[in-house]
Amino acid sequence: MKILVLNTGSSSVKYQVIEMEGEVVLAKGIVERIGLPGSRLKHRKGTDDVVVEKDVKDHNEAINLIFTYLTHEEYGVISSPEEIDAVGHRVVHGGEKFTSSVLITDEVLEMIRDCIPLAPLHNPANLAGIEAIKRALPQVPMVAVFDTAFHQTMLPFSYMYALPYELYEKYKIRRYGFHGTSHRYVSQKAARLMGERIERLKIITVHLGNGASMAAIKFGKSIDTTMGYTPLEGLYMGTRCGNLDPAIPLAIQRELKINYTQVDHLLNKKSGMIGISGLSSDMRDLEEASSKGNQRAKLALEMYTYMVKKYIGAYSAAMGGLDVLVFTAGIGENSSFVREKSCEGLNYLGVVIDKERNREVVGGKEGEISSKGSKIKVLVVPTNEELVIARDTKAIMDGKTPD
Ligand code: AMP
Repeated sequence: MKILVLNTGSSSVKYQVIEMEGEVVLAKGIVERIGLPGSRLKHRKGTDDVVVEKDVKDHNEAINLIFTYLTHEEYGVISSPEEIDAVGHRVVHGGEKFTSSVLITDEVLEMIRDCIPLAPLHNPANLAGIEAIKRALPQVPMVAVFDTAFHQTMLPFSYMYALPYELYEKYKIRRYGFHGTSHRYVSQKAARLMGERIERLKIITVHLGNGASMAAIKFGKSIDTTMGYTPLEGLYMGTRCGNLDPAIPLAIQRELKINYTQVDHLLNKKSGMIGISGLSSDMRDLEEASSKGNQRAKLALEMYTYMVKKYIGAYSAAMGGLDVLVFTAGIGENSSFVREKSCEGLNYLGVVIDKERNREVVGGKEGEISSKGSKIKVLVVPTNEELVIARDTKAIMDGKTPD
C-alpha cells in the first residue's frame, strides 16, 4: 500500500510517499512560498534532490506540481497518481470533536471547518490541501490526523482556564494542546524500547523543536500538556513567547500603542529565542554565541532549560511519579547541552544523566542517556509524525482502529 502524507500550511505543502510494506519513504519534498514570489519545489527520491523554481499560485497548483514529480521519468516513484492508495492529512485542530484519526467524509470536512475559529491560520490551509487532493484524486480515500486528538484524554480540571465559564461554553476556550502525533509516537516507542506496556508507565515527553511542548502521559493517556488554547502557551520557543502574565499583552498594547494584530505578531514571531537573544531563533546559534560569551544568548539558554526542568517537576507531581523522560524533535534529538542542563539537579527525583552517553546520542540517533543507576530512564527518541499519519491512514484503510 502506497500512502501519500501531506502537511499543508498557508504557503507550503510538505509531502512524503511511504510504501507501507517495510514502511519505506519512496520520495519526499516541499512546495514553498505558494502564492508568493520565488515559489519552488524541493523534491527528493532516495538521495537524489531536485529543486524546481516555478510560479505556484495556489494549493491546487502545488498538488499538481507534486504529482508531476512523483510521476516524473527520472525523479518519480509512481507511474500514475492512481497508484496512491490513500492520502493522510495532518490537520492542526480537531477541537473537542475528534479524539482520534478519521476517514474524511463530507461530514468530517464540515466539522473541520467548524474548528476554523480555533485555528484560523492552520485549519483553512489544511482544508485547502484536502480540497486540492479531492480535485486531483477524487476516488482516493483520505484520512485526517489531528495535532490535538491525543490530548483529548485530559480531564476538565487540567484543560479548563479560570475564566468566566461561558467563554468555554460559547467559544470553546480551553486547553487543547498540540504536537499530539509526536507525543503519542515517542511515548509508545519509549515503552517498546523499555520492553514495558505503556499502560504501566508514567512518561514525560519533551518535544523541543522550533515549536516546543511537553506532555504528561500516564498509562498511555495524555493528562496534561504545556500548549494551550493555541500553540503559544507553555515553553518558550524559537519565536513564540510561551507562558506570560496574561496582563502583559494588555500592557504591551497600552505602552506601545499597537493593535491586536501587532501584539499577536510580537508574541508569535518576535519573542522566544529571537526576542531574548536578539540574535537568532535557532538553538545552534544560541549555543555558539553563549559559548563565546554572549550574555543574552546565555540568559536565553538558562531560561529555556530552567523552564523544561520546572515542567518535569510539575508533571511528575501531576502523575504521582515518573518512570521515563523522553526528549525529541530538533533540539531534543540534537542538543546534549539542553538535555543535560534541563535534567541538572533532578537527582532527588531519580533522574541521573550519563554525560558521555548524552553527548553520543545526537543526529537522529535513538537511545538511553540516563546512567546505569538512574531510577528514571531518560531516552532520546527521534519523532516521526509523517510515519504516524501513514500508519493511522493504513489502519483506517484496513478497517482497524489507529493506536
Ligand atoms: P524542528 O522544528 O524539530 O525541526 O527543530 C528545529 C530546532 O532544532 C532549531 O531550533 C534548531 O536549532 C534545532 N537544532 C537542530 N540541530 C541542532 C543541534 N545540532 N544542536 C542544537 N539544536 C539543534
